[in-house]
Amino acid sequence: MALKTLEKRRKKQRPAGSLRFVVHKHWARRLHHDFRLEHGGVLKSWAVPKDLPVRAGERKLAVLVEDHPLDYRTFEGTIPRGSYGAGTVIIWDEGSYRVSDSAGAADSERRFAEEFAKGRLEIDLSGAELNGRYALVRMAGRGKKWLLIKKKDTPRAQGRPEENPIVVSGHSEKKGLSKLDLTGARRRATMPASIEPMPALPRASPFDRAGWIFEVKWDGCRAITSVERGSVSIYSSDGKLLNYYFPAITRSLRGLSYSALFDGAIVALDREGRPDPRMLREYLADSRGRVVYYIFDILYLNGYDLRPMTLLRRKKVLSQVLAPGEHVAPGYFVREGGLSLFKAASENGFSGMIAKNGESPYREGGKTGDWLKINVTRRKEERGQKKATSAD
Ligand code: MN
Repeated sequence: MALKTLEKRRKKQRPAGSLRFVVHKHWARRLHHDFRLEHGGVLKSWAVPKDLPVRAGERKLAVLVEDHPLDYRTFEGTIPRGSYGAGTVIIWDEGSYRVSDSAGAADSERRFAEEFAKGRLEIDLSGAELNGRYALVRMAGRGKKWLLIKKKDTPRAQGRPEENPIVVSGHSEKKGLSKLDLTGARRRATMPASIEPMPALPRASPFDRAGWIFEVKWDGCRAITSVERGSVSIYSSDGKLLNYYFPAITRSLRGLSYSALFDGAIVALDREGRPDPRMLREYLADSRGRVVYYIFDILYLNGYDLRPMTLLRRKKVLSQVLAPGEHVAPGYFVREGGLSLFKAASENGFSGMIAKNGESPYREGGKTGDWLKINVTRRKEERGQKKATSAD
C-alpha cells in the first residue's frame, strides 16, 4: 500500500472540536516515550522514562518538559548526534482527547488551564494504543515530576464492546507456552527492534512439491507487528507505524498475554471474503468495511527468536498461540497441493499464490527462493478480446 494514501488519511483525520495528542517513542540516550497534549496552541509535553500505562490502575512517572510547537505533532525522524535529544523518534500513538466531562474543545481548553495549574488533570484519550480515561497528577514537592495514571474506564470512555481482544487458544493458556515445540529457536531476551520482511520471489507457474506449503496471496498491506506487555506496534514493510490506521486490529492484539513478533498482511475483504486493495484504500479514507490481519508467520515468542526454526514448526506454534478472531487470524495454508490451491485461487478471484519451503528459516529481506509468488494471469480469451476491441 502506498504510503501517500496513508499520509492523506492522516491529514484528513482531524476530528472537529477535539484536541489532539501524540506519543513519540524516542530512542535517545535512554529509550523513553514523550506524551504530548495539544493545549493553548502548543504541545504540553511529559517524558515517560519507560512504558506507558495501558491497564487500569497502572501509573508511571512522567516528567514535565518544555512545551513543543504544535507542528512537532507529526514529527518522525532522527535527531542528529550532538543535538539535544539525539536519536530516532517515531509516532507511537496519536489521536484526539478532551478534558474529562468537558463540553467541546473550548471548554476543554479552559478546564485544562485550571486543572493543570492545580496539578491534577483528568482526560479521555482516543488513540489506537491509549484509550479511555487518564489522570495526570503532579507529585507533591517534586517539581516537574508527575504521574500518568490509567483510570478505570467509564462505560462511555470504553472501546466498542464488540471488539474484544482475541482469545488465545486453549493450548497456550492451559498448558503454558513452555509446552510448545520450539526446536531450532534461539534464546534471545529482547525482541528484535525492527524486521525487514522476507520477500517472495516471482515465479511463472504453479507447482506441487513435497515439503512445501501454499497460501493464497493476500493483496493488502504487509505488516510486522510486535506485542509486548499489552503494547502493540504494527509496522509497514518500510517501518512506518500503522496502529493509527487500524485501531480494531491494534485493540484485538492488545489482549495477548505473551510477547510476540508476527508477520502478515492486512487486507480489506469484499462480500465473498476476497481481499480487495481498492476496498482497503476506501477503509483508510472512511474506516468503513472489514479489515483482517492475516498472520502467516511468528518470529519471536517470550524470550525466543523463532526465525531459525523451520517454517512448518513456526506455523505449528502460530496455530497454538493465536486463535482466529474477527480482525486477526492465522493465515490459511495447505501442505503440498500447490496446483489445486492455485486453481481454486484463480477461480475465486484471488490474484495469486505464495509457495514456501516448509524447511526454511525466516530470512530478513533475503532473496533465497524459499518463498515464491505465482500470480494469476488473465485468461487468453480475455486478453484476446481486449486486443480485438482495441484493434477496432
Ligand atoms: Mn524525548
